[in-house]
Parts: sequence; C-alpha cells; structure tokens
Amino acid sequence: MRQPLSRRGLISSAGLLGAGLALGAGRVLAQHAPAHGPAPAHAPATAHAPAAAAAHAHTDLTAAQALARLREGNHAFVDGRVAKGVINEARRVEVAAGQTPFAAFVSCSDSRVPPEHLFGCGLGDLFVVRNAGNTVDTVARGSLQYAVAQLGVPLIVVLGHERCGAVAAAASVVTGKAKFPGAIGQVTEPIIPAVIEAQSHGGDLVDNSVRANVKRTVARLRDDQEDVVLRPALRAGKLRVVGATYDLDTGVAVFFDL
Ligand SMILES: [Zn+2]
Repeated sequence: MRQPLSRRGLISSAGLLGAGLALGAGRVLAQHAPAHGPAPAHAPATAHAPAAAAAHAHTDLTAAQALARLREGNHAFVDGRVAKGVINEARRVEVAAGQTPFAAFVSCSDSRVPPEHLFGCGLGDLFVVRNAGNTVDTVARGSLQYAVAQLGVPLIVVLGHERCGAVAAAASVVTGKAKFPGAIGQVTEPIIPAVIEAQSHGGDLVDNSVRANVKRTVARLRDDQEDVVLRPALRAGKLRVVGATYDLDTGVAVFFDL
C-alpha cells in the first residue's frame, strides 16, 4: 500500500532539491532526497526527514581549526599514534544519515598518499578529489563547489607530493624526453606550465614542479573571478584554500600559501 509523504518530509526534500538545482547539482541531491511526488511504496515516508536534516548540518570547525586538526592528525600519523579520525561500525552508522566533512582535498591518485591516512582522519571527515597530479579541471572544481556550497566545508587543501609520477611525466614532456599514449598526455597538460615555471628555479626539477603545481592550483581556485561559489565564500571569509606538500620518506605534510 502506498504511503503518503509526510508534510515535514515534503518540505525538507523540496528545500534540498531547490538548493541542489540552484547549484546545478540536483541529480546528485535527488539520490538522497527523492522529492518527485509521493514516496514509493517500499520506502517509509519518515525515513526522509533525518536524512534531509543531516544533509543541512555542517561542520562546526573554522578553517583555522580544520587546519589545526589536519596538522595534529599528520603528527599522529608520523609518530604512529592513534588520531582523532574514527573508522568503525558506530561511525559508519553515525555518518550514514549525512556527511559533515571538515575539509576538502585535491590530491594525487598515487597509492602512497591517501589523505585520510596521512592526516589521521576517519569516515565522513574529508571530501576528497583525487587525480594523477592533483590538478583541477571542471569536474574537480564542480566537486569542490559542491563541498563548499552544500556541505559547508571551510577549508580546501591542494596536496602535492614528493616524486610524483604525473609531475615527473610532465617534466619529461617539457624536457623533450617522452611522449605518452592514450589520455596520459592530457593528464600532464595542466602540469606543464608549472614545470616551465620551475625550470627557472634551479635545483631538482620534479620537486620544484610539484610545489609550483600546487601553488598554481591554489591560485586558480582562489583567483577565478567567474567562480560563483568559491569566490563569494572566500570573500565572505567562509573558506580558505591552502597548499601542502607531502614527504614520502618522513610522512610529514608541510602547509604553505596559508
Ligand atoms: Zn602524484
């Protein structure tokens, strides 16, 4: 038998969907808050209310507090101590109704640099965009916009790392040594300006390019005048974008461009 959607459920779902459409993210939100008419018979109407309420909750942490938590988590990781992040059944149940991550990351796909591990975080703590070379294309920017506008994330960290294969590949393209098959070349393209910039610095080209690549990505996120989500949040003091590099040998992450 079909059950009517409760009034509270209707209001919550409609509000969520409206916010999602305003963001252009209606499809994503609709998966969590189906507001297209009466609830299907197999879904109890009351099940929508807690999920909708949780989706509106944001972290209490400021950007500075989020940064402090990441630093503390990285220290714990380096020292082999237990960090604050929790991964267990209780935490899984807690975050099932809605996520309230306190930071977003743009980081590399490299198997040695999962942000949750490096910064002692658990389920529901970080909203992470990963690709080879930690760059920002339209999909990555849209994901970050979602994290800020919808999830209220106060901090975005762009994380590069030592001996990054994607950056090394871009460096080898610039120095004329390599060509890559398939779409790998397109992965290196956004990193190439950083390599060209780093060539004038002297020292290790890949290390310098890693840092230059992070700085350029941070600047792109901070300075894009046409970004209708990140720019207002930055100007209002609700968001900070910072860079960091991770040392594979020591496990230490160093933040910069604060
Ligand atoms: Zn990498």
